[in-house]
Parts: sequence; C-alpha cells; structure tokens
Amino acid sequence: MATSDSVDIFVIGGGINGASIARDAVGRGYSVALAEMNDLASGTSSAATKLVHGGLRYLEHYEFRLVHEALAEREVLWAEAPHIIKPLRFVLPHHKGLRPALVLRAGLAMYDYMGGRRLLPPTKTLDLTKDITGKPLKPGYRLGFEYSDCWVDDARFVVLNARDAADKGAAVHVRTKVTSVRRDAGGWLIELDGEAGRQSVRAKLVVNAAGPWVDHVITGAMGRNGAHNVRLVKGSHIVVRKLYDHDRCYMFQNADGRIIFSIPYEDDFTLIGTTDEDYPGDPKDVKISDAETDYLLGAASEYFAKPVTRDQIHWTYSGVRPLFDDGASAAQEATRDYVLKVDGDAEAGAAINVFGGKLTTSRRLAESVLEKIEGVLGAKGKPWTKTSRLPGGGFEPLAFDAEVRRLGMEYSGLPGTLLRRLMRQYGTKARDVLGDAKSVDDLGRHFGWDLYAREVVYLVEHEWARTAQDVLWRRTKVGLRVSAEDVAALEAYLASRK
Ligand code: FAD
Repeated sequence: MATSDSVDIFVIGGGINGASIARDAVGRGYSVALAEMNDLASGTSSAATKLVHGGLRYLEHYEFRLVHEALAEREVLWAEAPHIIKPLRFVLPHHKGLRPALVLRAGLAMYDYMGGRRLLPPTKTLDLTKDITGKPLKPGYRLGFEYSDCWVDDARFVVLNARDAADKGAAVHVRTKVTSVRRDAGGWLIELDGEAGRQSVRAKLVVNAAGPWVDHVITGAMGRNGAHNVRLVKGSHIVVRKLYDHDRCYMFQNADGRIIFSIPYEDDFTLIGTTDEDYPGDPKDVKISDAETDYLLGAASEYFAKPVTRDQIHWTYSGVRPLFDDGASAAQEATRDYVLKVDGDAEAGAAINVFGGKLTTSRRLAESVLEKIEGVLGAKGKPWTKTSRLPGGGFEPLAFDAEVRRLGMEYSGLPGTLLRRLMRQYGTKARDVLGDAKSVDDLGRHFGWDLYAREVVYLVEHEWARTAQDVLWRRTKVGLRVSAEDVAALEAYLASRK
C-alpha cells in the first residue's frame, strides 16, 4: 500500500457518503485513504430513486431542516455535475379523498420558496383534461400540479466523487474489506483484506461510512459492544417498457398515505418506485418481494388508464436505506436526515460514525463531517465543494444540449445516440473515452448495444471497473439492453485484461 501506509483520515465505505467525505477532506489538504469492500456504489448508492430533491413528503413529517438543505442542494449539485444531473418536472394529479388541493398547493409554495431556486422553473397548476400529462391517466383527473426537482445518475455520482478524490491524492481501494479497526498509539491501526492481499494502514481518524453495515463495522471490525443505531428500511423499484411519450414524471399519492414516482428512464423505459418496509435481513441479499411488486403495479395502475402488469417488468432493483433509528413507529416515518456520532478524541483516536443521509445531502453531510474532523485534527483548508465541478462537469447547467452538439461536430463519424449517452455519463471527459476515434470501427470490440472496448478500457483504467456488472449496471446502464452472450463476452474480456 504505497501511498497510504499512514494517513490523516481513513474512510470505510465507497458509497456516496464515503466518496464525498474523502473528496472534501483530500481537497482541504488532509491525507486520505478509502476502502470499499465490493465495487464503488455497490451498496445503497446505486439503488435509489435517483432524485436530487427536497422531499415534498418530508414536509409532512416536519423535517424542515432537511428539506431546506436538500432544496438548496438541487442547483448546487446540478452546477457541480450538469452531465449526470438534470432537471425534471413532476406532475402531481389531484383527486378527492387524499391530501386536499389547498394543502398540496401550500406545500409546493413552500417547496418553491424555501430552496434558493434560480434556474429550476416554479410550480404551476395544470388542467389535466387539456395538458399532455393527463393523457396516459384514467379519465376523471382534472387538476394537477407540476413542480421541479432533479435527477442524478446515483452510481456515477459516487464514482465521480471517488475519481475527484483520487485525482487530488486520495488512495481509493476497491474490493478491499476493512476487517479490523483498533486503537493504536493515539490513532488507529486498520487491517484490510482485498485486491492487494492483507495490509495494515495507520490513521489519525476513522470515518465509518459503511451505510447499512455501519453498526456491523462498529460491533465487528471495531470490536464494540452492541450498536443499534441504524434502522434498515428496504425500498424496491420496477423498470417497465416506456409507458408514455412525454418527458414529465408523476408523483402518485396512494391510499396508504405513501407516494410513488413514475419517471422516464434511459430513453425507452419507465421507472416506478419505491416501497418502504423494515428489513431484518442481510443488506447484500436484498431483493424485491412479490408483495412489493404487486404494491407498485397496483399503485401505478390506480392512476394509469392502461393497467401496468407483471409481464411489462424489464428489470427490478432494491436497496436498503441506512436510516438513523429515531424510534419512529412506521418505516416511512423514520427520519431521512443524517446523524454523525463522534467516538473518542485526538488523544485516544477518534472515529466518526455516519448514519442516514441522502444522495441529495451528501455534499453537505461531508461538510458536516469535515467540521467534526477539524475539531479533532485541527483545521486545514476551507469548505470548497459548493462551487466545485465533478470530473467532466465543466459546462453550464443549461448547456447540456449545446455540449452534445459540440461533441457531434468533433466526432461527426460517430452515432449521435452514442455521443449523447457518453456526454450524459462522462460530460467533457467523453473526449477522453473516445480519443482519436473517427468511426465505430475505431472503438474496438463490440459488446452489444453501443458499448465498445474503448469505453470498457476507460472504465477499467479510470473508474475502477472490474466486472461486467460494474460496467453494465453501475458505470453505465447498458445492462438494460444486452444479451446473456454479450455479458459473458464482456466478462471474459475483462478477465483477460487482469
Ligand atoms: P452505501 O451506498 O450503502 O455505501 C456504504 C458502502 O460501505 C457499501 O458500498 C459497502 O460495500 C461498504 N462497506 C460496508 N462495510 C465495509 C467494510 N467493512 N469495508 C469496506 N467497505 C465496507 N436519496 C436521494 O437523495 N434521492 C433519492 O431519490 C433516494 N432514493 C432512495 C430510494 C431507495 C429505495 C433507497 C434505499 C435510498 C434512497 N435514497 C435517496 C437514499 C440514498 O440512496 C442513501 O442515503 C445513500 O445511498 C446512502 O449512502 P451510503 O454511502 O451511506 O451507503
């Protein structure tokens, strides 16, 4: 472990929280190492609804601090990563018997004005008998509200944070498990087991950002007595063939008081989710149940004119929210806010345990962790991420289409759909992926859909991709489109490069 035998800060976990903390810390001048036991974003951070949002529904739970912070983050993150983050419009059809129209309008007015909106358009009222968004719905919906939030490619959000951290000098170890964290001479001795075999690293401070495994790290690797801080709440999504032709999302209120979203997904699909139920199992085994599938199909079919059926399901995914256990009775009521707990001090060695949080608040969570770190290790640098750019994000938020056109002029021999996908994923770094390619023949071996060896090699060399799953489901979503033979060919190709 050449670069990180001894570091200021060791981060456990390569989800959005760990990656954001590592990035912020190394950017302030601390020496940092991070270990992720599987692939980056292989835990909860690739299983989200993928919204950068204030969380309209959290207003009902009086989570004003969270909503305020999250709303303000929408445009901060959009500016930071205008390739992987984009604005969305959500339509909320109103009908009698659920939340009254006045309450919804008031909630949306708060939503509009609490969050420092500059570029995102405000809420408007819709006549669903005339607006295009009324078309796919059952007849009878007249009144709707349309409001703004943003979309993020969650897994790429993690990888780009990790990439930026590594570019600034952090040591990022994937497929490397932290097996032991013990106090040692005023700091910590951390044992790792992974790609490079078994190793030890010394650190002055440890950040436990292990998501659903945070208590497990406390009681296991750290050897502490029973920790019961985290409430594991499962959420599942289904992906069906595109249900409608416009680009708006829906927020549907259900009779049980919950809401689900219907979101245009990867051009040809619609994403429907999510569920909310306590999860007693092992986070790595989480998957959708029949009951959740029925729930999502039933809730969507309450609204869409054409019922959504099982045979339309193309893919499903599930994740576990690592919420702070605030004792709420129902899973959907447990706080979505984050909680940081510091254990120890500079003399004895300090550990910061991270609970909860959202993709949306990950940058702010990292700043809060850095405040705690400064309290232990002394200040270094200043908060810097608010006006920063993630790799590939060096253009204005509203300039995405212009950037695609520019790339098209530079690579006129390549298909426009491929260039658009690459701009969405890599932003200005699409040029690093494509290099001097003039036509698809220059992109190397074809692995199905629009995936070629040149991109795969880029992902291995710059984004820690190791397996076909990493490439097809986290660095890209090409997995939605390829055959089992393509997957096997990609797996063999990756193995041959090791
Ligand atoms: P994780 O992403 O799980 O990362 C923790 C990592 O630690 C894992 O990759 C794990 O492998 C690693 N790890 C664990 N133990 C060890 C060890 N011993 N050694 C090394 N590595 C270890 N948020 C939003 O903002 N918008 C949304 O729309 C949204 N929708 C959601 C929908 C669902 C269904 C769910 C489940 C969550 C959603 N969230 C959303 C919340 C968001 O996804 C999570 O808050 C966030 O991903 C948690 O990130 P994390 O880094 O804490 O955990």
